[in-house]
Amino acid sequence: MDEAQTPMDALDSPDGLQVNLRSALAEVERLRRLVGDETYDAERWANCDRAEAIRQANEKHEAHLLWVAEHDARRDERDAARAEASVLTDELGDMRASMSAAEAEVDRLRAALAGGQELIPMEPSIGRIVHYVSYGTPGGEYKSVCRAAIITRTHPETVTAMNNVMAVSLCVMNPEGLFFNQVVRYHDEDPLRGGTWHWPERVDGSN
Ligand SMILES: [Zn+2]
Repeated sequence: MDEAQTPMDALDSPDGLQVNLRSALAEVERLRRLVGDETYDAERWANCDRAEAIRQANEKHEAHLLWVAEHDARRDERDAARAEASVLTDELGDMRASMSAAEAEVDRLRAALAGGQELIPMEPSIGRIVHYVSYGTPGGEYKSVCRAAIITRTHPETVTAMNNVMAVSLCVMNPEGLFFNQVVRYHDEDPLRGGTWHWPERVDGSN
């Protein structure tokens, strides 16, 4: 606008003041029009709409950020749950293995019961009657046989990890007479070994 380009040296002269006044009035008029201007109004509203759109976009963005945070939290939860499930699966495997072992033991005990075996080995004690296995003669005149014997002393110090049944001292009752034997080792496997002791076989046994 021309009035705004008025030279500075003209401003102090009366003409200059006139020009200045006109310019100011023109500016007032311009502003008045602007205030009442529909396009200005529309622009203002458009700006408001833009501001609203930005606000909504911000809201949407914040909601999105929240969603991302929640998604991350859910993913962490899911990972933790998976790790826990894996641990539980391992524990379950261990428990199944233990259960299998326990079932095998139950089967073994049932079989032992059905077979009439001793489930708990008896502790040898003084006065009990056991079998002593005599030595046979090398020529075969006498065979190695079971003899009745009474425990006269126990030797718990002879128990080892390999041999968990203690040696005993015995009074052996041969048909021809008694003889006393010290620290006789336990042995109950076929073939019976001369000079050892064992619990008397059951009457339906093969020995
Ligand atoms: Zn025997």
